[in-house]
This record gives sequence, C-alpha cells and structure tokens, in this order.
Amino acid sequence: MSEKDIVVIGGGPAGYVAAIHAAHLGAKVAVVEKDRLGGTCLNRGCIPTKALVRSVEVLLEARRADDFGIEVDNVKINFQKIMARKSNVVSQLVSGVEQLMKANKISIYRGSGCILSPHLVKVNDNEIATRKLIIATGSESAFLSIPGIDLPGVLTTDDILELKELPESLVIIGGSYVGVEFASIFNALGTKVTIVKRRPLRLEPIDEEIGRRFAQTLPRQGIEVKIGAAVKAIKRNGAVLKVVWDTPEGEQGVEGQMVLMATGRRPYSEGLGLSELGIKMNGRAIVVNEYLETNIKDVYAIGDVLGKNMLAHVASYEGEVAVDNALGRSRQADYHAVPICFFTQPEVAGVGTTEAEASDGGLPYKVSKFPFAACSRAVTMGETVGMVKMICNADNGRVLGVHIMGSHASELIAEGVLAMQLGATAEDIAHTIHAHPTLPEAVRETAMGQLDGSIHFQRM
Ligand SMILES: Cc1cc2nc3c(=O)[nH]c(=O)nc-3n(C[C@H](O)[C@H](O)[C@H](O)COP(=O)(O)OP(=O)(O)OC[C@H]3O[C@@H](n4cnc5c(N)ncnc54)[C@H](O)[C@@H]3O)c2cc1C
Repeated sequence: MSEKDIVVIGGGPAGYVAAIHAAHLGAKVAVVEKDRLGGTCLNRGCIPTKALVRSVEVLLEARRADDFGIEVDNVKINFQKIMARKSNVVSQLVSGVEQLMKANKISIYRGSGCILSPHLVKVNDNEIATRKLIIATGSESAFLSIPGIDLPGVLTTDDILELKELPESLVIIGGSYVGVEFASIFNALGTKVTIVKRRPLRLEPIDEEIGRRFAQTLPRQGIEVKIGAAVKAIKRNGAVLKVVWDTPEGEQGVEGQMVLMATGRRPYSEGLGLSELGIKMNGRAIVVNEYLETNIKDVYAIGDVLGKNMLAHVASYEGEVAVDNALGRSRQADYHAVPICFFTQPEVAGVGTTEAEASDGGLPYKVSKFPFAACSRAVTMGETVGMVKMICNADNGRVLGVHIMGSHASELIAEGVLAMQLGATAEDIAHTIHAHPTLPEAVRETAMGQLDGSIHFQRM
C-alpha cells in the first residue's frame, strides 16, 4: 500500500480545490467521494441555481425587449428545457472537475470514507495510508421538526432542483439567501410565491438599508412575505398544502401547491468515526484553529463541515489554506473580507461592516452612496434600480464595508473585497482609473463620495 501525502474526504469545492492545490505543490493526493465530484455546490447548490437564474434573466430581458427596440413575439416558458439546460451545465462542470483530477494525477476513491486513525482511511475494501488528512464532508439540509414535514410536496432544496413541472404556487419557509433566490426564480417563471418567516426579511449580513430596500421590491415583483410566523405544522388541505403558525388572534396559514424548506444547512460528518478519533466538535461542527487544524495532529477540516461561513468560495479558500499548512507552509485563515451574493432580482452583494455595525462599534465612520440611476452604463443597460453603499473609517479612509443592490452586484463586489483585503482607502479607489462606461464606475463614484463628492450625483 503506497502512502499518500494527503487524503481528502469529500470532493466538494472545499475538497477538490484542496486536492488540486496539493497536487500543484507536488503532493501525492487522494480524494474520497461517495457521490458525484463537485459536492453540493456543483450538483445541488451554486451551479444549478445560477443556471436557473440565467434562464430567468433571459426571460426578463425577452419580456422587456420592446423597451430596447427589439420586437420579440410570444415569449413562452419551457420549464422542461430550462431544467434540462440546468442539468447540462451541472454535468459539464462536474466533468471538468473530473478531468482536472485526472490531469493532476489525483486518485479518486468512490465510496464513503471512514477514518481508522489520523493516518489511515477506509473506503469500501480499501485502506489508504496518508501523512495528512483533510475532512471536507460538507453539509446537509436542516429541517424544522414539525408535523407534516414528510408530506408529498414538501421539498428540500435538492428536491426543487429536480422538479418536472412548474408549481402553480410555492410557500418558502425561511428567508436565507437560498430561499430568497428560489423565490426570485420561481416568481419570475410565474409561480405564486409566498415567503414565510419568523423575523423581517433582512438579508443578513448585508447592510440593513440595502436589505430593507431589497425587501421593499418583493411585493412589487409579486412575492408575498409573511413575517412573525413561527411555523408549527404543514397540513394537507385537499389539493394544496397549508403552512400554519399561531398568532395572538389564533391560527394563521398560507396555502401552496408545494412547500420549500429553506431553513438552512447543518454540518455533515456522519459515519466518519470522529468520536472514536476524539475530534473536538461544537455540536455537529468540527472545531479547528486558525490554521484549520483539528485537535488531532495531522488532521485538518475545511468547508461547510466547520458550520461557519457556509459558502463555496470560503470552502475553497479554506482548502488552499489547510493544504499550505499540511505541506509545511504556515498560513492563517483570514475571514475579514468574505463576500456574500444574493443572485436575486435585483442582485444584492456585500462585504464587511454594515452601517449599523459601524455605529455600534463606536469607530468614527463615514457612509457614502451612489445610485445606479446616475451611472451611465447602468442607464444604457436599462438597469437603473440599485445603489452602491460604502462605509469607511472616518480617520484613515480605510474601506470597512461595501454593499450593493443592482445589476451585476455579484461581480461588482469583487472591487470592494479586494479593497478590504489590501487595506485600501476610498482615495485608493477614487484615484484608480476605471474604464468608461462601466458599472464599476459606480463603485469609484461611491468612493469619491467619501472625499470631495461624487462627480455624477449631487444630493439636493
Ligand atoms: C441551493 C443552494 C445554493 C447555493 N448557492 C451558493 C452560491 O451561490 N454561492 C456559494 O458560495 N455557496 C452556495 N451554496 C453553498 C455551497 O454549496 C456550499 O457552501 C459548498 O458546497 C460547501 O462546500 P464543501 O466542499 O464544504 O461541502 P459540499 O459541497 O457539501 O461537499 C461535501 C462532499 O463530501 C462528500 N462526503 C460527505 N461525507 C463523505 C464521506 N464520509 N465519504 C466520502 N464523501 C463524503 C459529499 O458527498 C459531498 O460531495 C449553496 C447551497 C445550496 C444548498
């Protein structure tokens, strides 16, 4: 049995990226995966949802094509084709990861990995010896334990991605970014969508003002949001399902053909043998230090199984950090500039401090804003809904947070992330020449608002 330098359990964006990075550094690597490579992100998460988002964008463009002088007759939705395209996109990217594994000479073991010792992993009848071990087993949907959860028509986020027919109506329990994205997708496709939430929809950790403005767009789009609803059961009511909760005035409910549980995710580490190994846990999450080492020497953990920033880009980043440490480079994980994107209509994205956090933190801070309506590129695109908001340290001008609502917010946020990562100031951004006419000019104009004022926007 030849010894590996690194064995990674889990082939999601944490695990497969860790494996490729380790191979680049010259390590002999194996990945253990019990399902398809790519994990939740490629198969049941980021990628299929964004493929659907793209279909929705095309639909919405086609519907308003007339505004641009383009005559498109009879715009129709073919849900089966939309779903087929989604599956093709997933397959294409999964096979891309498979090819990368091959090109990097990474051994793939198909099956459930079980840890026999920090240096020995069992998969089916194989035992793999390794110098270092990385656990990247991800997460699973978390459910409310309420009556009715098993009724036909109550869907997980995995189930909804496999629908064959578009539902007439959908009740979404929970307002996580995943729930709001599905609301946006199905609403645009013509499903009557209701989001049911205990607390007001806020889009945490996005800036409160941007979250509020986004929430205000939902009723205009036709999405109903019921707040103050601590859901206690799902009942069948003839052909529909009824989600019910108590209020001081008595039981209330909302009906839908289907119900989506968007109540978050929890770390997944079943069957790994972690308690026998003595791995320190916090509930279901594996505890690691800033080098992503567990309490057991030579064993690292990364990604959703840590239960913190459950995002694919964080998972992949952690994969690279853990590998660097496992192979003798010393690198601490740094989470001060983690972006989050909501691929909704309109898009929302943010990084760093919100205005309320800055105010609570007692630091001197300054806020500047710039509306999309004043950005020439946004006007040419007919995408004038939205704004950029920047929060800077009032003493030294350092960027503390950037939050954006509007077209391509998920792309624009990269500038804010880089600024924060480099410790850049508003002046650094303002003194950087941005191509014209582009949406990033809105970020620069917001930075100018921290200094002598935006050029193309004057508050009256
Ligand atoms: C609907 C939805 C939409 C999302 N959209 C986004 C988005 O737009 N952007 C974003 O950043 N994030 C998004 N996410 C979150 C993102 O998918 C996760 O943060 C990311 O996949 C975590 O990566 P991971 O590698 O830690 O875990 P996973 O992707 O869950 O991968 C873990 C892998 O480990 C395997 N595994 C588990 N146990 C074992 C075992 N014992 N042996 C062998 N294999 C095992 C699993 O089969 C799985 O393939 C979304 C999630 C969902 C559900």
